[in-house]
Amino acid sequence: MPELAEVDLARRSWDVGVGERVLEVVLPKPHARVFRGTDVDALRDGLTRQALISSEASGKQMVFRFGARADRWVGIHLGMEGDLRVEGPRFEPRKHDYLILRQAKRALVFHDTRLFGRVLFHRGADVPAWWAKLPPSIFSEAFTREAVADFLTRRKRTALKPLLLMQERFPGVGNWMADEILWRARLHPSRRGGELKPAEVARLHETVREVCRRAIAEIGPDWGYPDSWLFVHRWEKGGACPRCGADLARAQIGGRTTCWCPRCQPGKLRVDG
Ligand SMILES: [Zn+2]
Repeated sequence: MPELAEVDLARRSWDVGVGERVLEVVLPKPHARVFRGTDVDALRDGLTRQALISSEASGKQMVFRFGARADRWVGIHLGMEGDLRVEGPRFEPRKHDYLILRQAKRALVFHDTRLFGRVLFHRGADVPAWWAKLPPSIFSEAFTREAVADFLTRRKRTALKPLLLMQERFPGVGNWMADEILWRARLHPSRRGGELKPAEVARLHETVREVCRRAIAEIGPDWGYPDSWLFVHRWEKGGACPRCGADLARAQIGGRTTCWCPRCQPGKLRVDG
């Protein structure tokens, strides 16, 4: 499942086409699951001959706006295995390509091998409901320390790991990012939301933003995160904490494989989370 930084990387891949018209909209399989609930004829008519104006990501969602008034909205959710890429202008669609926007110099392509992704379309000056209803981004003003503190208090018996995966408060944070955040904030993933002292809540809030910001800044097509990140070591068999050198620990917490440093993140593992 792509996380915030991967979604943003995918979004930016289409930036080369900003300011240029779509000459043709190619939908090799208009009845595919990725278009569920979407009027594909309206999408084709609405984008043809219109320029790509801008794009934005919020958590795991993206929106691309087209037309002189930016009133044609394409929402893309990558699902489990979806991705965006850019091909040459005369490129022929392959098996898992569902949306191809041909421009003069290139083709913008959405592909999805497992069909959990989604393509949405809206035409109008109003913000589409599917975009307006998204939870406030981690980079928005609504993402305050108080909001995080309140969220933890209301889920005081939930472990931090599953808490960080709750998209309504931490949109775009997925499994590896949650581990990175807790490791940097020096918080054991089994600790409960209600156990954190105010200083720890402040650290968690700050670290969520920091990791999200840096993950977007450092991610590249070659996945080059620095060696100082837990991310680089959490996949290795064994693996040592890049900060203190202790052996990393792994267990299922909240149903998800979790990696942490027992020395930097003191606490007791609880099997129920
Ligand atoms: Zn450590």
